[in-house]
Amino acid sequence: QLDWNGKKVTVAGLGVSGIPAARVLHGLGALVTVVNDGDDERSRAQAADLEAEGITVRLGDGATLPSGTELIVTTPGWRPDKPLFTAAAEAGVDVWGDVELAWRLRGPGAAPWLAVTGTNGKTTTVRMLASILEAAGLRTAAVGNIGVSLLDAVLGDETYDVLAVELSSYQLHWAPSVRVHSAAVLNLAPDHLDWHGSMEAYAADKGRIYEGNQVACVYNVADKVTEDLVREADVEEGCRAIGFTLGTPSPSQLGVVEGILVDRAFVENRQKNAQELAEVADVQPPAPHNIANALAAAALARAFGVDAKAVRDGLKAFRPDPHRIELVEEVQGVTYVDDSKATNTHAAEASLAAYDPIVWIAGGLAKGAAFDELVQKSAKRLRGAVLIGADRALIREALTRHAPEVPVVDLDRTDTGAMSEAVREAAGLARPGDTVLLAPACASMDMFTNYNKRGEAFADAVRALAATGDA
Ligand code: ADP
Repeated sequence: QLDWNGKKVTVAGLGVSGIPAARVLHGLGALVTVVNDGDDERSRAQAADLEAEGITVRLGDGATLPSGTELIVTTPGWRPDKPLFTAAAEAGVDVWGDVELAWRLRGPGAAPWLAVTGTNGKTTTVRMLASILEAAGLRTAAVGNIGVSLLDAVLGDETYDVLAVELSSYQLHWAPSVRVHSAAVLNLAPDHLDWHGSMEAYAADKGRIYEGNQVACVYNVADKVTEDLVREADVEEGCRAIGFTLGTPSPSQLGVVEGILVDRAFVENRQKNAQELAEVADVQPPAPHNIANALAAAALARAFGVDAKAVRDGLKAFRPDPHRIELVEEVQGVTYVDDSKATNTHAAEASLAAYDPIVWIAGGLAKGAAFDELVQKSAKRLRGAVLIGADRALIREALTRHAPEVPVVDLDRTDTGAMSEAVREAAGLARPGDTVLLAPACASMDMFTNYNKRGEAFADAVRALAATGDA
């Protein structure tokens, strides 16, 4: 255990991870200075609270390294190219994120971590994993980039047998010494490249999750980069590479055979060469990308020694979080599905692959994305498209290029009320048996506070449509 007494620690950033970190470190006896870029009303109020507790706060200057700093604990969102970190590197000062801090503060005999990262599907997979571990009678929680902070989980009164941990690429970047029981990288598509600097740097940060794994490195057979990351990782002796696939699994893989999720990697009965885990229909929603999430969660649970029945019970008990391919309602034979959480093209591609025919509602803030590949892959399933939001022209152009026969309604609107018009237009294009799918492939902030609000606006509009019977 580290001796914190009198250690000069700089906490970078007020906010959801900075404030608790500052309090914990202060409580351990460290001399804490919080530095923050902003100097607005909210941060002044937060600073006043912390200063009353004896923590120094410097507002309006997140760039200068306070003299004598021995360690920086940063908010994961801070970009690595910030001057504060350049100064730290020059001064030989270590930088830890919130996850690294939690890792270092774990008590002896603390619960091992089963960790999940990836561009899409992290939250879903971690919740599935927690559900499976619970079904196995283990004391566990879904933590990390997901609601409950790791610091709370590690320092709280609750005792755990094992933690299901969601880690973002930012958190991994700042977590140099974390070594988990087993980890999975679900997939890797370009995202957050402005932060990481390049796709290579982004992949390398994601790959950190495998470093020092003890039992299993779980990778996606369909996403070769994830397998490459396993190969490059320095793991403990005996740690196995375990693949998951939507096809028939090879030995050392989990996969799907005739609608059954099967495990060929961790087989209890030596007479058999595969263990049946669950049926595809046990997983909600049973869309292909979500079966992949279930297989990844199952692989981690199996690596931890969980039996097949608990995998099945846990998957059956799992319910997706709101706005992730959520069935809203069926109106006049048309199914309305809310995947507002599909905030990038990779996510939207997954949900568009799950339905046919589709009337697609899309648009918002593109964050520099290109839509050609998404539209090419989905074109033959599209009955029509309704476009909203700031960057809708990018999607319209891709549709014109690759799917000129698909009718497109381009709503020249970015106000919140545009969603009900979009739903009415979509209803007009749809035929019984179709799915109207909100999978924006874009961020929501041009029109809504966040993706939750966007999804709620969609669901409200669908219910209004159902109430009037106006299709
Ligand atoms: P994250 O925590 O990584 O953002 P979520 O589980 O919240 O992931 O899912 C976000 C969105 O990503 C979902 O709404 C869905 O559209 C899509 N998605 C989920 N799992 C996958 C997957 N395995 N591959 C591709 N897209 C996925």
